Parts: sequence; structure tokens; C-alpha cells
Amino acid sequence: MTAINLFPSTRLLSQLSTKVVLTYLVITCLSSLQAAVQFKSLNANSNAKNKNSTSSIQGGLLLGKTLATNKVLLDNKPIRLATDGSFIIGFGRSAKDAELRIITDTGIEKTQAINVLTRQYKIDRIDGLPPAKVNPKGKAVLKRIKVESTLVKNARKTDHPRQDFKAGFIWPSKGRISGVYGSQRILNGQPKWPHYGLDIAAPVGADVIAPASGVVTLVHLDMYYSGGTLILDHGQGLSSTFLHLSEILVKPGQTIERGELLAKVGATGRATGPHLDWRINWFSIRLDPQLLVDGLSQDAR
Ligand SMILES: [Zn+2]
Repeated sequence: MTAINLFPSTRLLSQLSTKVVLTYLVITCLSSLQAAVQFKSLNANSNAKNKNSTSSIQGGLLLGKTLATNKVLLDNKPIRLATDGSFIIGFGRSAKDAELRIITDTGIEKTQAINVLTRQYKIDRIDGLPPAKVNPKGKAVLKRIKVESTLVKNARKTDHPRQDFKAGFIWPSKGRISGVYGSQRILNGQPKWPHYGLDIAAPVGADVIAPASGVVTLVHLDMYYSGGTLILDHGQGLSSTFLHLSEILVKPGQTIERGELLAKVGATGRATGPHLDWRINWFSIRLDPQLLVDGLSQDAR
């Protein structure tokens, strides 16, 4: 695969050249009397010039911390705080700048602008797929697809206080990257939904290990699109989904340590060849798994 520049300008590239993945945004309430909330970003990529602003990127994940007694709202939507006051916020493929509002227990408010850097996505043409997998027809198949997508949606609603993501992520499988987050897919000549996974090409039967600790929230051996499908919840709405598996070695409800063997790579469901398709969600928002393991320092290899 040829090198791909994910960014529209060299200026952005230089801002983002360092390895960053979990950005740490520390929000400290110094004195409620002054309504002083101090912001400090430990994100090497963030824009340090403006102290009242921090930055992320489309597909990125921010880790924040504030007093546990505070309330945090992202664009007016309440965010779950852990008992230690830490929280995460994810930004989707087309996310725009956002506003974080922090409200202390005495009612003092502070807003924080979050700049979300825009990315350019590549266009992927895939031909030769079975027509029925590109344009499924028939009541039974459409119903099956709906039932399966509900199972996945429900698993991704899991809101568990665990914070397994804090220890960082490792690659779940080894191999060439054959597909990246956000790419616009043109299947058999027809524009389709973007691809949200990170595809790692590997032979059928290759190991899939847990990129972070978590709890298994979904095991399905044969979904129409994704074949053998596994979801691992890392806490606070952050989950990993693994698709096209040939074998799943864990059970729903099972607690998994980072690095533990989960499954085997396959080519089940709608796949042109054996690979692992790894996805990261913050609830229903789809994030870029590569940012968690690799930063943006390299091209798509
Ligand atoms: Zn894929």
C-alpha cells in the first residue's frame, strides 16, 4: 500500500507528528471562589498557545480529569465521571469543534473550547464482492441484519465504571494494515458507508489478543456483514469490536487481561480475504483505533 497523508496540510502534520494517542487534559479546580478552573493539556499535539483551548482530532480520544464533585457536559450532554473525576470524550469521523462545560458543586461554571482537527480520508475501491453482500435483498436477510445491528448497538451502550483504557493499548494482531479508519468505500462501483475499522491482514487462524483489558459484552459466530464478531468493553463507554473472526475463544461476561488470547483471525461475513477488522467505539461514536496504538506519526504503511 502506498503512503497516505491523512492530513490536509504540512502545518497540521507537524502539529501531529508526535506519537499521541490518549491525550490528557487536566482540569483542576483551584478555587471555587474565583471560579478558577485551570486547564492543562499534556497532549504533545495540543495547541499550547491558548490556555483556554485544547485540541483533539476527528476519530480521537481525550482523557480528562476534574474534581469528582463537578459536572461535565460536552455540547450540553452530561459526561460520565469516574469516582476519581476522570472522564473520556471521543470525536467521530466528521466531528466539529466542541464545547466542554464544567459546573462545580457550588454552581460555578466554566467553559472550555475543544478544537477538533479535520482530517482527509482516503477513498477505497473494492470490487468483486458477492452482489448479495453489497446490496442485501429479501425480507429474511434484511431482518437478520437489523437484529444483528441491534445486538451490536446494545453491547456498545455498556456504561461500566472500569477504566481499562488508562493502561494504554497494544496491537491486537500482527500484519500489514490493509484498511484504515474513515475511508470512503466504493463497493462494486457503488459508494457505501465509510469504513470505520483498522484492517490488519493476517492468515486465517492467526491470534487476536486483547488490546486492553476489559469485559466481553458480545460474542456472535455468524453475523451477516461481520461474521464472527466479538465486543470487549474497556469501561466508560469505550469498547473494541473485532470482526470476521474464524474462532472466538472467550465467553460473554468474561473478564480479560490486556494481551490475553481472544480469538482467531478469519474471513467470515463480508470480507475479501482473511484479516482482522478492529473498531473502537465511545458508545455509538466511532473512533480511530490506530490513534490508540500508533499515534499519527506514520503513514498507513
Ligand atoms: Zn474492515
